[in-house]
Amino acid sequence: ELHESIRRQSEKLLQSNEELERFAYVASHDLQEPLRMVTSFLQLLKKKYDQQLDETAQKYINFAVDGANRMKTLILDLLEFSRISSLAVDHTVIDLTEVVKKTRMVLKSVIDESHAKINVSVLPKVCGNESQLLQLFQNLVSNAIKYRDLSIPEIEITYSETPQQWQFCVHDNGIGIDADYHDKIFIIFQRLHNKKDYSGTGIGLAICKKIVQLHGGNIWVESSKGKGSKFYFTISKFQTSAIDGSKL
Ligand code: ADP
Repeated sequence: ELHESIRRQSEKLLQSNEELERFAYVASHDLQEPLRMVTSFLQLLKKKYDQQLDETAQKYINFAVDGANRMKTLILDLLEFSRISSLAVDHTVIDLTEVVKKTRMVLKSVIDESHAKINVSVLPKVCGNESQLLQLFQNLVSNAIKYRDLSIPEIEITYSETPQQWQFCVHDNGIGIDADYHDKIFIIFQRLHNKKDYSGTGIGLAICKKIVQLHGGNIWVESSKGKGSKFYFTISKFQTSAIDGSKL
């Protein structure tokens, strides 16, 4: 009796989760086209009428371009979030040392500009999806750089293992996170640092959580304000997916 009610509840949850993901996908996909129009007409306005526009009008156009750019980032992040589903994962053997090398390439401009130091031990080969694992490292390392304090960012990536799983840690010396927010930051759109100081959409860590769950693992943070952060995540050594009705 109890088992049946739990099963029904988890089916309902899965269904509403799927609906939400479909909505996020359709909405973000359909918003791209009108946004492209806004951006291209703003650019045209700037290019063609530059001489006729006074300073105030130019300032207004720049505000509008800024807003459109922020919206573009949000739409792309939302699309990425809704694209990551269990259906898409094909698991192969992935060398994480190579994944981190690629992460450095993708983030080259922010790494160079911030003079960030990234120390990585040789990482193991795991069973997983390459583009998702790249996205996971990319999100964690780019956050480690973005949420830096006044000192040069120093990031250390280490791992340990048990017979069942790999455990990784991305350790930074940045601004840190108050204990009250340790769980909240993995929920989509939850941000604790304001828009003015740090640009972002609040989607990155929700994407990380989804990816890690699809690799049969967990993600969590150990941190306190002003003391840097340690983001831990695990990856199962067996091919499993935690997004599975029986485990909800
Ligand atoms: P975004 O960076 O786009 O805001 P995320 O989902 O990646 O979204 O992160 C959610 C929030 O968690 C951020 O707004 C920030 O407040 C906090 N955060 C994430 N990573 C770090 C970090 N390495 N150091 C301090 N705060 C962090």
